[in-house]
Amino acid sequence: MSFESLGLDEALVRALSTAGYENPTDVQAHAIPAALAGKDLRVCSSTGSGKTAAFVLPALMKVLEARKDPANKPKRGEVKGPRILVLVPTRELSMQVAKAASNYGRHVQWLSVTSVVGGVPYPAQIKALRGPLDILIATPGRLIDHIESGKAILSNVDMLVLDEADRMLDMGFIEDIERIADELPAGRQTLMASATFAGEVGRLAQRLQKADVERIE
Ligand code: AMP
Repeated sequence: MSFESLGLDEALVRALSTAGYENPTDVQAHAIPAALAGKDLRVCSSTGSGKTAAFVLPALMKVLEARKDPANKPKRGEVKGPRILVLVPTRELSMQVAKAASNYGRHVQWLSVTSVVGGVPYPAQIKALRGPLDILIATPGRLIDHIESGKAILSNVDMLVLDEADRMLDMGFIEDIERIADELPAGRQTLMASATFAGEVGRLAQRLQKADVERIE
């Protein structure tokens, strides 16, 4: 199985090849076609399985597809907000996801990836939120601050990703996640990765995702 055969754009396949990825992992081979078909995903797997690329690659495809429509070309001064929102529990994970998105999207010159996380000053984040923005990676608490101050616009989000959802709930982010989800269009696609979907994480998945969800172990 090759990355091309999963339906990924040539620019992404080329970047994967540069990164030394020859073939998709099992999780990627299962997750990528389902996500490209528009399905919501529940990815139950640990680090090392290639789960980051399993959601970052479909996210990049969504950004590339949208950009083919001339109506979506950013206009000077217009603040539209991101197409993809990735929620993560920690600053470290936000950096890993941002690095993966920039790496796999390296041949897409106009791609804009930004992180907003706690523990760092606000001004640079506010500036980034006002610029052209395709993929926003955020920790829930800091994103709530930006929503409350009117700086984060989330009405154009087509895809929500929750990475390490179980850890976000362990850290007490449930209410923040639900508030953020309320800001997003109802028709969006929602991908969740978690070590478990038992208990509270499963209930959150039921609330945020469509009934026709693809489960990936
Ligand atoms: P993750 O499970 O997302 O934390 O990824 C684990 C590691 O596997 C990371 O260092 C990735 O760069 C690497 N990786 C992800 N997908 C592939 C692939 N298809 N081929 C080779 N390495 C990969």
